[in-house]
Amino acid sequence: MSRKNIAAGNWKMNKNYEEGLALARSLSEKSVASDALMILSTPFIHLKAVGDIIKGQPHMRLAAQNCHQKAAGAYTGETSLDMLKSVGVTHVILGHSERREYFHESNELLAEKVNAVLDSGLTPIFCCGERLDIREANTHVAYVANQIKESLFHLSTADFGKIIIAYEPIWAIGTGVTASPAQAQEMHREIRQMISEKYDGETADNCSILYGGSVKPANAIELFGQPDVDGGLVGGASLKADDFCAIYDAFGKTNV
Ligand code: PEP
Repeated sequence: MSRKNIAAGNWKMNKNYEEGLALARSLSEKSVASDALMILSTPFIHLKAVGDIIKGQPHMRLAAQNCHQKAAGAYTGETSLDMLKSVGVTHVILGHSERREYFHESNELLAEKVNAVLDSGLTPIFCCGERLDIREANTHVAYVANQIKESLFHLSTADFGKIIIAYEPIWAIGTGVTASPAQAQEMHREIRQMISEKYDGETADNCSILYGGSVKPANAIELFGQPDVDGGLVGGASLKADDFCAIYDAFGKTNV
């Protein structure tokens, strides 16, 4: 898969059914298609209806916020990849810091989920990122390298080429504190370098690496203008159609 500009909206556990459909309709009407992708990652119960709303929009895709790693069976409360595929999901967010923290998802479990998503033909959006204490101890690059190594570096070059990575420093998620463009660029460059060393330069160049953590219309142009930042995974600002459209439109204004 070649490198793409992507604005992915993670709705998390927000919006009831009607509110979610209204947001999807509004995004579908207001966004002006470009080469960049707009991915909507909705709660599970919205997926089918949101998929129907965005069908036919060449720039829009549908993502789940999680999946179960097993194909089917006695896993009460879980959702399989076959179910997700059957309603038009194309991408699955894996390893969001909230899943890691509140649901104890480990690097090892995430490696299993990555394999399952790839086996099902869908695209993982693999999240990584450090806590504030790790950044303050200046061990953030090694920490993120380990997350990537333990969950992704078992993949073949061909399979690695299908992954999207989202670097999300935990201290910037939902806090209003954004990593500076230079901080984002530094980590994204490091991640690309790790991929180049493990695989090769072409695989590294082709990997889409998104930044997540308080992306807003006011900072998107500068963040997305960094040479190794290919877009954003957006939480809060993806819940307002005007804001998310403005973030999506930032790609046309970066001069990169
Ligand atoms: C996120 O949910 O991944 C996120 C980055 O949230 P926010 O944009 O609200 O910081």
